[in-house]
Amino acid sequence: MQSDTIKVYHRCGGCGKKQVFINTGKFRVNANGDRIDVWLIYRCKKCKHSWNLAIYERKKLAKITPEEYRLFMENDSELADKYGNDIAFLKRNSAEFK
Ligand SMILES: [Zn+2]
Repeated sequence: MQSDTIKVYHRCGGCGKKQVFINTGKFRVNANGDRIDVWLIYRCKKCKHSWNLAIYERKKLAKITPEEYRLFMENDSELADKYGNDIAFLKRNSAEFK
């Protein structure tokens, strides 16, 4: 299931040019000691090349609530929609809009 959020454009590493990227509604979580990285995964509409947008990078695990962590692990669709419509988050990741 994919989220229908803001349409973003990004230079695709697979196509070699700017394409529309779709919010997959899936998170990628990488815990390393007491630090955590979380990304929201987008995919090129054309070639399915993935693009991970950083939500947290090297964030202290203690600063995230267990509830939030659980939502990331369960690929919560509401949370994926929330980030997918978060302009500041998208801009931080150099996403382009029309
Ligand atoms: Zn592509």
